Amino acid sequence: MATATQSTDRLSSTNPATGEVIGTVPIMTAAEVDAAVARARVAAETWSTRSFAARTEELVAFRKAIAAEATEIADLLHRENGKPELEALTEVMMALGHVQHATAIAEKAMAPRKVGAGILANFRASISYHPLGVIGVIGPWNYPLFTPMGSIAYALAAGNAVVWKPSELTPLVALEIERIAKRTFALPDLLQVVTGAGATGAALAKAAVDKIAFTGSAATGKRVMQAASERLTPVLLELGGKDPMIVDADADIAKAAEAAVYGALTNAGQACISVERVYVNEAVHDQFVEEVVRQVRDLKVGGDDGHLGAMTSPAQVTIVRDHLEDAVAKGAKVLTGGPDAIAGNYIQPTVLTNVDHRMKVMTEETFGPVLPIAKVRSVDEAVKLANDSNYGLGSSVFAGKAARAIADRLRAGMTSVNSVMAFAGIPTLPFGGIGDSGFGRIHGEEGIREFTRIKSTAEQAFSLPLNMMSFRQPKDMPTKLRGMIKQLYGEGLVSRAGDVIRKLRK
Ligand code: NDP
Repeated sequence: MATATQSTDRLSSTNPATGEVIGTVPIMTAAEVDAAVARARVAAETWSTRSFAARTEELVAFRKAIAAEATEIADLLHRENGKPELEALTEVMMALGHVQHATAIAEKAMAPRKVGAGILANFRASISYHPLGVIGVIGPWNYPLFTPMGSIAYALAAGNAVVWKPSELTPLVALEIERIAKRTFALPDLLQVVTGAGATGAALAKAAVDKIAFTGSAATGKRVMQAASERLTPVLLELGGKDPMIVDADADIAKAAEAAVYGALTNAGQACISVERVYVNEAVHDQFVEEVVRQVRDLKVGGDDGHLGAMTSPAQVTIVRDHLEDAVAKGAKVLTGGPDAIAGNYIQPTVLTNVDHRMKVMTEETFGPVLPIAKVRSVDEAVKLANDSNYGLGSSVFAGKAARAIADRLRAGMTSVNSVMAFAGIPTLPFGGIGDSGFGRIHGEEGIREFTRIKSTAEQAFSLPLNMMSFRQPKDMPTKLRGMIKQLYGEGLVSRAGDVIRKLRK
């Protein structure tokens, strides 16, 4: 029987392609979230004391169990999110890549480091990394497995327990992973899922967790940060972007077009690192557009084997329609798709030209299968427009020899050169953005350390006659200090602190 604080309400998970209800889950209350966090705290106390080898053994079992059920998990992703089967399988594979990588690098990433002690030359100084405790992960609906796993795997490998709030649109995939976790980890509360809508996520942000890792919109990210501030809980925010692609005159146009089509349309454009706008040098603009349109016309929308699936949420369809209508009203040319080609949850891939920064489609996150292409006169103009955004997540550059130099000028957390989205598939590379795209990093060694607390230790190896950490100082100490300041930081700079100390001892 439900207790007073236990949820009795449920929400439905619906297949966006068919409207069929595929399952229901409880809408958990704040009290239930707090209870899950308390159980996670107990699990974390044990998990954090295990050796890396012991944790590795369990994380490998977890990974293998997910891999064994890859087909079933991908099928659930396909039905719950609307993405085609191939994209669902790709998502499972990429998520597993991070479980493997996080497990493999945790010990090295958290290895204590000796550092120089500066003028306190009689000290041994070291930095060590320790698990934070309990991590709250709030996941999105567009990559319901891959995105949260980018935090979960690294948090677990670093020795933390996790409480995961999936999006209300995609809770079933999360529950499937929780089921596997309960079976494979010795501590059943190490990875728990709390289901519900925004209020459940808000309760997790306010709960006694040691960090919140959030992926979603900038607006909700701000709310999460505000809620977390009540306890001064640190947050990691992965908030989407308006990723630009630059195509210079000497780029391989066929390859650039292929990458733009994939980067803008994979997952029906519902990726935080989607190509959301393209700036093409006028010398190759028409050729690029022609190639893009040719490739887009070959794409199939809908069906299990389609290139593009149904949009996950009707609310997102409304946003995409609004951006397209706004662009058309301001003079954009529709080459494929367009606002009139939207039917239910399906949006035909849309290529636009004659676009500029007065249009929402060039400045706000569209998060749909839309590829707006702008003509530019120079690399400088392309870079200026690419950087004209509050977002700064991913980006891509197609060019000849100057490609790396162009990439360095982009104000973004990540850039792919002569490719798209590749930084997300390379598990050693930290993933995250700047500005409205958020802060903090998942993936790579930085992704492990993101879920640790840094401890600095200063150990006195031997004592010196001159002890700065004491009130018992000789009378002439001010004179000595004046000399020291001059020697160390002024004209008479002495490179080694030891030399100064020896001189002062005389
Ligand atoms: P949200 O930012 O609202 O949702 C992301 C997650 O936050 C979901 O799990 C959601 O739960 C949860 N959430 C909602 N309200 C709160 C709250 N007050 N406190 C804590 N958690 C909360 O995304 P939307 O679904 O509204 O999408 C809107 C826009 O966000 C899109 O148009 C797109 O631009 C962007 N987006 C970016 C993503 C990315 O990968 N960076 C992913 C998804 C969206 P629930 O779903 O149950 O409400």
